[in-house]
Amino acid sequence: MKIREDFLPMNRPSIGEAEIAAVSDCLRSRWITTGPLCQSFEERFRGLTGARYAISITSATAGMHLALMALDIGPGDEVITPSMTFVSTINMIALLGAKPIFADIDYQTLNVLPEEIEARISKRTKAVIPVHFAGAPADMDGIMGIAKRYGITVIEDAAHAVGTRYRGTHVGGFGAMAVFSFHPIKNITTGEGGMITHDDEALEKRMRILRFHGIERDAWKRYGKGGNPEYDILEPGYKYNMPDMQAALGIAQLARLETLNARRKQIVDLYREALADVAGLDLPGWPTYPHDHAHHLFVVKIASMTRERFMERLSEYNIGYGLHFPACHRLSYIQKRYAPNPLPETDRAAARIISLPLFPDMTDDDVLYVCQAIREILQTPGGRR
Ligand SMILES: *Cc1c(COP(=O)(O)O)cnc(C)c1O
Repeated sequence: MKIREDFLPMNRPSIGEAEIAAVSDCLRSRWITTGPLCQSFEERFRGLTGARYAISITSATAGMHLALMALDIGPGDEVITPSMTFVSTINMIALLGAKPIFADIDYQTLNVLPEEIEARISKRTKAVIPVHFAGAPADMDGIMGIAKRYGITVIEDAAHAVGTRYRGTHVGGFGAMAVFSFHPIKNITTGEGGMITHDDEALEKRMRILRFHGIERDAWKRYGKGGNPEYDILEPGYKYNMPDMQAALGIAQLARLETLNARRKQIVDLYREALADVAGLDLPGWPTYPHDHAHHLFVVKIASMTRERFMERLSEYNIGYGLHFPACHRLSYIQKRYAPNPLPETDRAAARIISLPLFPDMTDDDVLYVCQAIREILQTPGGRR
């Protein structure tokens, strides 16, 4: 087959004229940091998830930090999470002085298993952070049942899950809190950004204060007409508030969510059809419970050659790829500091996974090109003649 001349990336955000106009309008208004557009974005996010509260933040990492702080997680506490996740979660647990404990996953779906979480619970367990992996919801009935029985708080890592539904309900309201990400790779983007959703009035107050230096009120309320620029601080906080410039982008993206996710689904359907009979490659498994998949990532497993060689060959075809994720329990500081328990299914998956290009602006021809390249690569692992 003929090699394409331009590079096909693994991901590219879909930014249309509506997004560009929305951000320009915000710039023209001269109110560019946290303000009315963040409020509006939060309100729309409450509408999507059904959560009582939504707090816009500078990243999902910042959101996870606030969520863990608001639960007073610190030294002596354990937090259970899959190792097959982005390391940001583990970093936040570690920076707060708590200990990450890793639960194994289902090899097919890459989602954390409830029985694996239960097996890791101790007297020190404070919270569990399931990930809705690649846009497929985690087994929330199973996880919430265990959490209730042991009195453990659940924080949903919903970074992949804008548009994900579990048994008909949008994720973000199953646990005590959920954290979404709007990094450019995610289903909708604000450049960088995130959202915490939850239902608790006390947590709302605490997280809003921690989000902004520990100050009781946001800048736009203090600097508006008749505002009071004085403040008091009861507890030191961070600087995690989302600017309105980014909320403008988020609102425009959210308006297109259904269209964007529908296109993602078409692409995944096309991949599945075109790769169904390819030997040496395992397609991702889907959860057996009813769900709407957000198709954030398309993660296949290479069974018949090394992933390293497979990636080299994809590069020869001008095709991008991703790795979601290097297993966290194998990272140097985590090995050294925590000596994690064995995770055979995570290790088995981690050696083989690779994320193929998936973004709404990909054409059908792009998808078929990738599939054709994969066929050739797996048939001639040594390379083209
Ligand atoms: C992207 C991602 C995060 C972090 O999101 P940021 O907004 O970049 O901080 C957390 N968890 C998972 C599973 C992710 O994929």
